[in-house]
Amino acid sequence: MPEPQKTIVEFRNLSRLYHLAGRDIYALDDINLSFLKGQFAAIIGKSGSGKTTLMNMVGGLDKPDIGEVLFADKDIGKMKSRDLAHYRNSSIGFVFQQFNLLNDLSALENVMLPLQYRRPKIGKIKMRAKEALARVGLADRIDHKPQELSGGQQQRVAIARALVTQPELLLADEPTGSLDSATSDDLLKLFTNLTADGLTIILITHDQDVANYATRRIKLHDGKVVEDRTTIDRS
Ligand code: ADP
Ligand code: MG
Repeated sequence: MPEPQKTIVEFRNLSRLYHLAGRDIYALDDINLSFLKGQFAAIIGKSGSGKTTLMNMVGGLDKPDIGEVLFADKDIGKMKSRDLAHYRNSSIGFVFQQFNLLNDLSALENVMLPLQYRRPKIGKIKMRAKEALARVGLADRIDHKPQELSGGQQQRVAIARALVTQPELLLADEPTGSLDSATSDDLLKLFTNLTADGLTIILITHDQDVANYATRRIKLHDGKVVEDRTTIDRS
């Protein structure tokens, strides 16, 4: 029997608008979408179509003007700032085009950073960081500094840093934007493997080839969903 599919993120009648020169500009215009646990979804669309605004909504960095954003049935827009901070630190991991690693720290130390404010035992933090690095295929590079790693390896360190808190959702905004195509392919295969373990990934890209790695592709245009295709049904 397949497991029942669990909805992890849901947008309900979501709109975000900006007032510019006396006009309303809808960055997001009545978005209705839900994402299932373990789904690998790509959001595609031209520059200005609303991709980053949508990601910021799930990331708790922006709030809807109309409608709701739910994470595991909780309304993110109504969370108090403490709960929102907790949600951002524990439920989601972020990956960006720029790897944003600290150059003076080793791969291991970079990955340990998100756990340090929780003040658990150092040995335990180290162990979890090593596990996260092994998960992205970098078990043999943990003592390397960012400059001693290739671009693809640096992005893997950034992914390990995003995963070390064991989030349920990974948000990736143009994560392959600084990588050559072979390295980009490897990274996208890693994403596929991670979703097989139950992680949900929402990937933002303007590149159709990148989006094709995802099993669901949602296209935005002027803040509206104009296409939503699923190629593989995991149920
Ligand atoms: P994308 O990431 O797809 O390039 P964005 O989500 O950044 O698109 O932007 C969507 C739309 O919202 C664009 O028309 C953009 O100009 C507008 N927008 C985004 N942020 C602001 C802002 N702070 N003020 C005014 N307009 C904004
Ligand atoms: Mg953007």
